[in-house]
Amino acid sequence: MKTESILHLDLDTFFVSCERLIDSKLLKRPLLVGGIGDRGVVAACSYETRKFGVHSGMSMKLARQLCPEATVIKGDSSTYTKHSQLVTEIIKERVPVFEKASIDEFYADLTGMDKFFGTYKFATELRNTIIKETGLPISFGLSSNKIVSKVATGEAKPNNQMRVDTGLEKQFLAPLSIQKIPSVGTKTYQTLRNLGITKVHIVQEMPLEMMVSALGKHGQTIWRRANGIDRPPLIPFHERKSISTERTFTKDTTNMVQLRTTITAMAENLAYQLRRADKLTACIAVRIRYSDFQTYSKQIKIPYTSADHILIPKIIELFERLYERRLLIRLVGVKFSDIVTGNYQINLFDDTEEMLSLYHAMDHIRKKYGEKSIMRATSMGAKTIGRFHNPFSGEPPIVLAHRKQ
Ligand SMILES: [Mg+2]
Repeated sequence: MKTESILHLDLDTFFVSCERLIDSKLLKRPLLVGGIGDRGVVAACSYETRKFGVHSGMSMKLARQLCPEATVIKGDSSTYTKHSQLVTEIIKERVPVFEKASIDEFYADLTGMDKFFGTYKFATELRNTIIKETGLPISFGLSSNKIVSKVATGEAKPNNQMRVDTGLEKQFLAPLSIQKIPSVGTKTYQTLRNLGITKVHIVQEMPLEMMVSALGKHGQTIWRRANGIDRPPLIPFHERKSISTERTFTKDTTNMVQLRTTITAMAENLAYQLRRADKLTACIAVRIRYSDFQTYSKQIKIPYTSADHILIPKIIELFERLYERRLLIRLVGVKFSDIVTGNYQINLFDDTEEMLSLYHAMDHIRKKYGEKSIMRATSMGAKTIGRFHNPFSGEPPIVLAHRKQ
């Protein structure tokens, strides 16, 4: 069997490191990044704050109480997007096949490079280049699959590297807490702990059937991961899916109210799809087709986001710049691309727990009662907004019967 070499790279405390790059006085100091008001939320925190019990997602007020000496900085998503794209460019120049798993996390397929460079040497040089050219600390894990490499990165941190040789995956994982296996969340960990399973080696000693009967299909995934044999495929960066929707009007229109309402509803729903799948977009586009079938589109790059209150005004602005022929419109479409995994809290530095709670509550209602159960007042006029191509559901795109291409 061909042995693969999969590298996992992860920038250390990414937002914190970016802030320290801008202001070196912040180095080695306890640092909190997030909403700066009393009702803000911690988006990232430095290692120095963690011994006080501070973690991301916590209210800033509580974090300040736990660690009063910490410097508090309001985050800036455009800075982090810029640095993330810089690191992406460095990797892209040197590795033919890589995946951008999130704003600060990458997988690279180094299989076959052994003969020429030695994969560990290559990975070490790549890491050193990133540190030298960006000034950002980064760690890596290298092994025969994504899962073991990701765990190895976690063990190597901060600012270090680790290799797990082929054949030693199981041995490497054995003494670790089962919580370190990717996809073992808080809830699964509770279930496992109630069964007396706290370390990876216990799962390794169990028959697969026992894990399946305890946790169903998820149990099988965890068992395979614990044994170091799960091999999820790399999703190459250039194949990153987009998410889009379009609507052909039954009657061509120039009604600006109707057009804006439809586009708002589309952007709102796509943003919800992003948040539901824990994704962010950095490129948005609007498409229009006039009654003479001429089709135009416009796209812009934006800082990573999945927040309605950022996306909707930008989409409307794009539409207004695009719609210049003043002819009847036959079709409108909205597309988000350059999608990575990430939490929407990235945009909520300005905002408060109330804003977080609002998104949380709205998405909860949608999940429970359906996507159109709750909408912004501005999109309420849109009775139907067409159907969606959602790559995260694993389903093929729906081709509309009435769509003429
Ligand atoms: Mg990171």
